[in-house]
This record gives sequence, structure tokens and C-alpha cells, in this order.
Amino acid sequence: MIPSWHERAKCAGDLAFIERVEAVADNKRRAAARAACAGCPVLTECAVEGLETSAYAVVRAGVWLRANGQRTRTADRHELVAIVASARARAVDRPDRPLSVSA
Ligand code: SF4
Repeated sequence: MIPSWHERAKCAGDLAFIERVEAVADNKRRAAARAACAGCPVLTECAVEGLETSAYAVVRAGVWLRANGQRTRTADRHELVAIVASARARAVDRPDRPLSVSA
């Protein structure tokens, strides 16, 4: 079942989304992923999904989840955790805009 928040994703329906990031040189791929996801309204939900799955060689929440090695994968997951933590902190600061992570 596809979560409903996918419909609001900036990349929704864009089948070439990952390919465009993949096409960038290795050392620029992380910046390309960040740029591709900038302004996405479901960045937090996407980060949660990235943490809940073991997907790699994909973009989640502006983070290129690398395939090469446990150490890089752990670092990438830490980035996703930081994104979720930041969103939760903002939700505490702005109770009128609660964090919604819906399936
Ligand atoms: S944050 Fe996730 S849902 Fe949004 S554009 Fe990036 S990959 Fe797609």
C-alpha cells in the first residue's frame, strides 16, 4: 500500500527523479539530492520512510543513501534522524503546525 503522503511529494509521478540524481558524478550526488528535494512538503515523512526501510542507492529526504559500506550508510541514516529530530523540534515550537507523519 502506498502511503497517502506520496501524492504530495515533489517527485510524485516523476519517474526520472532518481535517474537525474544518479546521473551526477559521485562527489556531487549528495548535493544534487539535496537540491532535488528542496522545498518538498513531505520531507519529514520521506525521512521516516528512509529510516524504516533499508533502501539504498535512492534519494530520501534530500539524502542520497549510499550503497558502499556500513559506515556511509550509518552516516546517511544519521542525516535522516537529524531531519526528523529537527521537524519534531519545530513542531514543539509551533504547536499550531504539528508534525504529521501519516501512512
Ligand atoms: S523528499 Fe522524498 S518525497 Fe520529497 S522529493 Fe525528495 S525523495 Fe521525493
